[in-house]
Amino acid sequence: MKPLAKVASPAAIAVLRQATAIAPLRKKASDGLLPSTAHFRQNPNSDHNTGLAVDLTHDPEHGIDCKEIYKNLQGDNRVDYLIFRGKIWSKRRGERKYTGKNPHDKHLHISIKPEHASNTRPWFPWINEAKLAGRVVAELSTPRRKKPAKVEAKPVRKTKKKGK
Ligand SMILES: [Zn+2]
Repeated sequence: MKPLAKVASPAAIAVLRQATAIAPLRKKASDGLLPSTAHFRQNPNSDHNTGLAVDLTHDPEHGIDCKEIYKNLQGDNRVDYLIFRGKIWSKRRGERKYTGKNPHDKHLHISIKPEHASNTRPWFPWINEAKLAGRVVAELSTPRRKKPAKVEAKPVRKTKKKGK
């Protein structure tokens, strides 16, 4: 049995924070860091108990496509293993069928290696890059505005009202 951590690892917290920064409207219904007591009893060996795991809600409509993230994170050396849509992946064993109770249809489970617990470097660099590239293109395609010409304030000439 793994002892229950009081706080999640910075690396796990960073996953959710960075996802929200990239996709502010994303749904969070299946997000998770530390387990509830019930979850802990049910699954005493879960990585969630050590704060080294994070569940990220699948919400492609709002910019968090866990199918894509599941694939891309296979190249991140901080990842111990991933679970999504009935599949589990680890570098050592590759992709296999996941036979646990929860099929992980609504969220991606990410387990982080203990040595990377404090590593908060970007988890979704390919999304950041795409966003950045999009911004650059947008900036280049919008014509630069000319500085507004200085308008000298004309002194208001008082016109004498003709007396009646
Ligand atoms: Zn999980």
